[in-house]
Amino acid sequence: MVVKETDLISDGARLPVVEEFFSLQGEGYHTGKAAYFIRLGGCDIGCSWCDSRFSWNPNLHPMVETNAIIDRVIESGADSVVVTGGEPLMWGLDLLCAGLKNKNVSTFIETSGAYPLSGTWDWICLSPKKNMPPLIEICNVADELKVIIQDKSDFVWAEKYHGLIRLECRLYLQPEWSRFETIIPEIVEYIKKNAKWRISLQVHKYMHIP
Ligand code: SF4
Repeated sequence: MVVKETDLISDGARLPVVEEFFSLQGEGYHTGKAAYFIRLGGCDIGCSWCDSRFSWNPNLHPMVETNAIIDRVIESGADSVVVTGGEPLMWGLDLLCAGLKNKNVSTFIETSGAYPLSGTWDWICLSPKKNMPPLIEICNVADELKVIIQDKSDFVWAEKYHGLIRLECRLYLQPEWSRFETIIPEIVEYIKKNAKWRISLQVHKYMHIP
């Protein structure tokens, strides 16, 4: 039987890999923790401030056998994987997660939540984007809500999704990097008045690591 390229893509047997690296998580609840990062290509959400535009077009990145990705994770010695993008849920991630779980590797994902969930996850970081809001099914299972703050209107957006996620979900506000100096005082004042939120800083950028 001939297996078509599209079949391989849809069942996640191969994935468009932008980059892979073993580093430290720089954002959110797991800041400071070592993890193997897998950045997948493909995103049609189009955030104006996106710092990963190079990932948008999946055709610019090689389709890599998922088993080969898993092998490299194991070789790295990492005990957890962060799958990011792009928007990683544009791809079927069941096979990737099953292979990692089979090797006792924890699975974390960073997603906008705009596409249906696939894969089995130990941690789901939901970062909702205004251009394509998240599906309610992902709000219901997110472990962490991380909202990028570019201007004051984003606090309203953050509170909207606070009202949609489950009680145990951790709450983070993260300054949009290019507006850091302007927006950080606003975030500090907001968190002082709304103590359920924590700040998330992209500390990997200060350390000059990927
Ligand atoms: Fe960029 Fe992420 Fe927005 Fe896609 S969802 S445009 S990768 S910031």
